[in-house]
Amino acid sequence: MESVTEAGEVKDMATEGGQMKATPEGGETKRMPSRSFSRQASSRQFQRSKSILESGSYSRSSSILKSDEVAIETPEPVEEPLVVGFEALRPLDVKPEDPLPADPAGALHGVLENGMRYYVRKNAKPRNRAALGLAVSVGSVFEEDGEQGVAHIVEHLAFSATKDYSDHDLVHFLESIGSKFGPCNNAYTSLEETVYEILVPVDRPEILSKALHILAEFSTEIRASDEDLEKERGAVLEEWRLANNFRGRENKANWKFLMEGSKYADRLPIGEEEVIKSVPGQRVRDFFHTWYRPENMAVVAVGDFSDLEDVVKLINLRFAAKQGHDQGTNRPLTIPRFPVPSHNEPRFLCYQDPEASVSMVTITCKAPRTIARTVQDYREELARWMLLLALDSRLFRVSKQPDAPFFSGVSNTEVLAISTMCNSLEADCCEGGTLQALEQLLTEVARIRLHGFSEREIAVARAETMASLKTTYLQRDQIPSTEWRGNYVEHFLTGSAMPSIEYSSQLRKTLLEDITAEEVQKVAEHFNTTCSCTIKTTEPHAIANVEALKAVVAKVAEMERQGDIATWEEENIPDVLVKELPTPGVITGTNEFPEFDAKEIILSNGMRVCYKCTDFNDDEILIRGFAYGGISEVDEKDHYTCKMGRPIAREIGEYGHKPTVLAELMAGKYVFGSTTLGYYSRTFEADCAKADLEAALQVNPLNYFI
Ligand SMILES: [Zn+2]
Repeated sequence: MESVTEAGEVKDMATEGGQMKATPEGGETKRMPSRSFSRQASSRQFQRSKSILESGSYSRSSSILKSDEVAIETPEPVEEPLVVGFEALRPLDVKPEDPLPADPAGALHGVLENGMRYYVRKNAKPRNRAALGLAVSVGSVFEEDGEQGVAHIVEHLAFSATKDYSDHDLVHFLESIGSKFGPCNNAYTSLEETVYEILVPVDRPEILSKALHILAEFSTEIRASDEDLEKERGAVLEEWRLANNFRGRENKANWKFLMEGSKYADRLPIGEEEVIKSVPGQRVRDFFHTWYRPENMAVVAVGDFSDLEDVVKLINLRFAAKQGHDQGTNRPLTIPRFPVPSHNEPRFLCYQDPEASVSMVTITCKAPRTIARTVQDYREELARWMLLLALDSRLFRVSKQPDAPFFSGVSNTEVLAISTMCNSLEADCCEGGTLQALEQLLTEVARIRLHGFSEREIAVARAETMASLKTTYLQRDQIPSTEWRGNYVEHFLTGSAMPSIEYSSQLRKTLLEDITAEEVQKVAEHFNTTCSCTIKTTEPHAIANVEALKAVVAKVAEMERQGDIATWEEENIPDVLVKELPTPGVITGTNEFPEFDAKEIILSNGMRVCYKCTDFNDDEILIRGFAYGGISEVDEKDHYTCKMGRPIAREIGEYGHKPTVLAELMAGKYVFGSTTLGYYSRTFEADCAKADLEAALQVNPLNYFI
């Protein structure tokens, strides 16, 4: 079952990236879930994209299939309210150049008198709570030399004191609403934005009002006195120190390497030790006064509000009178953008750190970022997504071959900066194996450029993408307020289109039906070593060197030029998961448990099945099973075999299928599960979509109990 889980997780619609943020645990490099297609769907989908979340490269947020989100007021081209199931969504009649609705559907939004934007949305997940946010479109890349770390310091100083609130008041308030106190708990600083966030109860209007007042104070009234700064230096410095572990060091080296030639390279939010220790208070105040202006900000309120207009009025009351500090003098008219230069020749880095626990190779190709604005943009995103799925499926198969050059390989697409994204490939391998891993990764994308994908591979990628679209659509009412808040912040920062989920699902379903194998193949061009490519190895001991990496690149390029790379060999995939279904039994008894609203049936083989219907999630079935008896019952000579049974089964296959075959049989199905085998009991857990219950029960380790 675990193998199914792993295979199912190859990739979801959400290419989860992460934002570099200043955090207590890991300095600036903590990866936060980002806005993306299925991030809206449910926490379940995070499971599917877990492998992506963990596939460590720097990024601000996801690029693929972002935008959309949000619901209700899409002005066009939805013709009627869609209250139908996913299958009944009719194809849309659209042309590639048709624009996507630009307004954030589902929100009351606009601009206050002082230029600050606002977004207000009703959302009852969780009930009686509201997620408030103040987004400032300014981050560490705005810092000059001698200011590295100041954007983050300003974030800290917000919680020290403002015009109307002392440190004590802020602590008291945040604790009174059950919130962890302080910077990094209620805020983050990244390269291009600083965001303050508070989750408040809405049943007491005075709390909502006060929380908005505090955010309004953060917008322009942070005190930032010399004394405040001196008190805060230690905390920020401690974060800097914590960020200096292996992961932090590697991230820093990787980021510098990746963004070389741009201002981003030297502006990680955590900053420089010397600056944190000694930057003068005036310099911090200047940064704050220069950039914290209403026109660079948006206030977001998403929650279980009874009246949205009242919330808008409250926002107007709290924020509209706020003004920037040097009004009329030296006023930047637009937020500057910082270019990331392209390069035709690949760059190389052999990163060595004795604390590296695994050898890895990463290929990253930078590209200008497309902000989704037209139907064609969505189409390209879907084609890119299908490529990632099909490519990962091949990499998974390669990793399962005897003498595989890597343990695992993944492809990814992420956002690096507001105007830059990247396509990447990454593999971890045995020590000393980075050159072979690199050669295989480069060969696989070259193979796609030369020969494309089979119809079967495209059909599988389409089925998986469609399943993800469906889950997103069915779970559209389960999106938490904090996630909507993130979506609106993203809309404010990028101006990407934000159609309703109903519309974006319908549109994507329409487009997905006829995306061709050639369109998917074309995306592999973006993984070429001539496309602003960087190649990095990470090793505990220095083994690879730049010359050897260059030679591998040249070798594969020559093989591709000569057409000297064979077509992909497909495996034989059976038609059905379980060839011979067991003989059905009968129900021999029933019980009712009115106190939990649950029912029980007793099967002829003795198994008891208890079930309960809930309205928690619209397309989710959770299953948990338990049986007495475990390893303690087997002969002593079989003890270790039995104990190792699960991991071995995961590697060699289950139910008569190899893991690669099982993965393909489960493509497009939403089934996750796990088992435990203890000394005295066995358990299993599963999570599936309604339509996939039968498949879940087929692959489920019910065999264990029969
Ligand atoms: Zn911090």
